[in-house]
Amino acid sequence: MEKVDRPKKIEHIGIAVKSINDSLPFYTNHLMLKLLGIEEVSSQKVRVAFLKIGDAKLELLEPLSEDSPISQFIKKRGEGIHHIALAVDNIELRLNELKENGVKLIHESPVKGAANADVAFLHPKSASGVLYEYCEKK
Ligand code: ZN
Repeated sequence: MEKVDRPKKIEHIGIAVKSINDSLPFYTNHLMLKLLGIEEVSSQKVRVAFLKIGDAKLELLEPLSEDSPISQFIKKRGEGIHHIALAVDNIELRLNELKENGVKLIHESPVKGAANADVAFLHPKSASGVLYEYCEKK
C-alpha cells in the first residue's frame, strides 16, 4: 500500500440551514465573519455560502430540492452541524486506502464539490456518528 500524508487541516465545517438568506446575518453581523461567496453545488442539490474563519471556513448548506441530502438531514435532525471537511491530497488514493481497511464510504470515488474541489463523504457509521468529508483542492 502506498503511503499517504495525513489530512492537512480542517477545510471547513458544514452547517445545514433552511435558508441562507435567513441565517447569514447572524454570521456576518453578529459573529462578524467575512462572506467569501455563495454558489450552487448541483451534485449535492444545495446552495452554499462560505464564511472565512482563520485558515478554515464555515459552509452554510441550504437545500435546493426535497430530495437533497440536506433536506433529509433537516427533516430528521433539524438545522445544525452537518459535517466536518478535512483537506487532503491524493483523494482517490485515500479513499481506496479507507475502503481496503473496511471503512464505510458514501462516495467511493470523488464528486465535484464547491469551488470545483474533488470531495467525498465517509459514512458516519464508521466514524462514531460524525459525517466527514474529504476535500481536495486542485
Ligand atoms: Zn462541505
